[in-house]
Amino acid sequence: MKIDQKYLDPNLKDFIDDDKIWEQLNAAKNPDKSEIRRIFDKAKKKIRLEPEETAKLLQIEDKDLLEEMFSLARKIKEEVYGERIVFFAPLYVGNNCINNCKYCGFRNANDAINRKTLTMDELGKEVEVLEKAGHKRLILVYGEHPMYDADFIAKTIKKVYSTKVGRGEIRRVNINAAPLDVEGYKKLHEAGIGTFQIFQETYHHETYKKLHPKGDRKANYAWRLYGLDRAMEAGIDDLGIGALFGLYDWKFEVMGLLYHTIHFEKMFNGVGPHTISFPRIEPALDVPFTLNPKYRVSDEDFKKLVAILRLSVPYTGMILTARESTKVREEVLPLGVSQIDAGSRIGIGGYAEYDEGLIPEKEQFQLGDMRSLDEAVRDVCKHGCIPSFCTADYRCGRTGAHFMGIAKKGLIHNYCIPNAIFTFKEYLLDYASPETKKAGDEVINKTIKKFEPAKQDIIKKKLQLIVDGQRDIYI
Ligand code: SAM
Ligand code: SF4
Repeated sequence: MKIDQKYLDPNLKDFIDDDKIWEQLNAAKNPDKSEIRRIFDKAKKKIRLEPEETAKLLQIEDKDLLEEMFSLARKIKEEVYGERIVFFAPLYVGNNCINNCKYCGFRNANDAINRKTLTMDELGKEVEVLEKAGHKRLILVYGEHPMYDADFIAKTIKKVYSTKVGRGEIRRVNINAAPLDVEGYKKLHEAGIGTFQIFQETYHHETYKKLHPKGDRKANYAWRLYGLDRAMEAGIDDLGIGALFGLYDWKFEVMGLLYHTIHFEKMFNGVGPHTISFPRIEPALDVPFTLNPKYRVSDEDFKKLVAILRLSVPYTGMILTARESTKVREEVLPLGVSQIDAGSRIGIGGYAEYDEGLIPEKEQFQLGDMRSLDEAVRDVCKHGCIPSFCTADYRCGRTGAHFMGIAKKGLIHNYCIPNAIFTFKEYLLDYASPETKKAGDEVINKTIKKFEPAKQDIIKKKLQLIVDGQRDIYI
């Protein structure tokens, strides 16, 4: 099916049926315990849940059932993804924006913001700082502006890949930008993009309309909703969806994310989104909406939504950003998260210009977790998880349908855990503080012992190559 400009027609009916979602949520109230246990059993088999089932999980109030759900989410996370946490950093390229999203610091009418777009030299300097900290994966972020068209974005991707300092290099560049047309996505595909990420913000049509003023490009709900279909059509098969929690009822948004996943599966031979993001709204400079949003999601509900997503879509990566505080991140991480950012600065030029602290007048919102990469990595080790800087999947063609095939067979362990070990060892040798080195080597040793002896030998041999100076080893 050709998916393009026709989605600009605002009268088209899309795959999010607001009334139906509310009917499903209402019908699921006071769920029966035995029915919930049946849904848990299905989730244990790692079968993607149906909307009626997810609706029931969303209505659980019973404390014991909630505890059971949290421990099941931990178990599924471990079984599918292992105790591995992938690290990345966001890099804000430009904050010019033609839209006026009510919740965003970059909105056009916000005079408190200094507008800035990095030059290619400045972009290179930002990348150098990130490489020197040990990052291998970035997500580039842009406002929506004619300046940030597909050619510009492709140029920034190429600049990032070609910037290398010492042993440092960026091996995967993901993008979070306004939706493009198919021709535009093709240019990014050629430039070697990893994942293209678009958050629908809110799946609720009426709320979407209220928060995105008429006449703005972003006001077109359907253009955004089908933005990733166009990316897929252009050959980009790693797609990231998300909702900005706090704009509307959190249970509705979880249902929206699930329907979006089901839509992908229908359209693309069973391949769902590569990642789901669930940012919560954060305060932004001179953006009154962000101070006390009616639908603010409590920490308790946040934990629930992460666990419910984990049970509902077991094979999709889940991203928890540094918008959240260190404490919340530590609590939520084991419930299903597979990727986090660390050492993040979201001011334009925030890495090279300011090593410490905030630059509010260039930031989109405030971050909750300001730990350095080294600290965050060490803390992840303390929780017994293994940090990963792996970017092999995308470079070996393990994306889209192929990735899902691997993930679904549980074989992710055979690739992802060894690759986590290799890339983490590189990090420890090249960038870590002595304290992190110690904690990291302990985790590596523990993780290796979980493999059968023959596999242990293979991993140890490759590790020795890294100790001897080789880099970028993966299987
Ligand atoms: N401008 C593009 C767009 O809107 O699609 C690119 C992404 S925007 C710079 C990145 C994301 O930040 C948005 O999709 C939105 O979900 C999130 N965001 C905006 N305002 C926020 C706030 N106050 N707190 C947390 N996240 C916010
Ligand atoms: Fe612009 Fe994106 Fe912010 Fe909306 S969310 S104002 S489009 S940067």
